[in-house]
Amino acid sequence: MLKHRTILFLFALLWAALLGVSLIYAINWLWFLGSVILFLSIEFYGAYFVNSGFHIAAFSSVITNAKTVSLTFDDGPMPERTEKVLNVLNKFNAKAAFFCIGNRIKGNEKLLNKIYEEGHLIGNHSYSHSNFFDLMNSRQMADDLKSCNEEIEKVIGRAPLFFRPPFGVTTPYLAKASRKLNFDVIGWNVRSLDTSITNRQELSERVIKRIKPGSIILFHDTVEGVEIVLEDVLNYLKQNDYKVVELDKLIQRNAYA
Ligand SMILES: [Zn+2]
Repeated sequence: MLKHRTILFLFALLWAALLGVSLIYAINWLWFLGSVILFLSIEFYGAYFVNSGFHIAAFSSVITNAKTVSLTFDDGPMPERTEKVLNVLNKFNAKAAFFCIGNRIKGNEKLLNKIYEEGHLIGNHSYSHSNFFDLMNSRQMADDLKSCNEEIEKVIGRAPLFFRPPFGVTTPYLAKASRKLNFDVIGWNVRSLDTSITNRQELSERVIKRIKPGSIILFHDTVEGVEIVLEDVLNYLKQNDYKVVELDKLIQRNAYA
């Protein structure tokens, strides 16, 4: 797997070599430009695809022959929408993990407690979920993640150890902050794109097509109508002998400190 440090090292070598050669021979400056573009493309890929493991070794799926998958929901708790998701999960007796935004907990304590009491896992999805989250330094990020955990702990009495980065973006700062707080970083390998695709049929098909043994599936419980897609997916899983298991069992890690 590509790692940020390895890439940095290899490109530093390449640039040093190019520089050395350019002192003796006239070389085309496009070599420099091309290598910089390549470097930035790899960095971009590594930051924006959490399952690339570029900055952090994230859990995005597990290797198994068993037909087991885990369901995850981001961005809640959100009154009415989260409840609709809970109803469908209950109907199928399926447990999921909810990655909650810290600043959405105040005023929704009952709902957060309901998620927990119904046997689902609660994970950390940052306090602010700010668009500028990735511009924070590692100390600011750690403070933000800590605040989210405090909000959750106030309600359910336990501090999550599972963290899903806002927007799935990982950077060296984020890697440092999550290591400091002992988080396991959770990615996904099936992304529903429920926040951008509005056609429910298309969404269900997209998810179903991508499901494999050991998949971690990403939904958002804040999206209107996501429970319809969830019901389609759960029906598919049932008809195809897939078992929905709790995320902590799938990845064999502790969900709480
Ligand atoms: Zn999110």
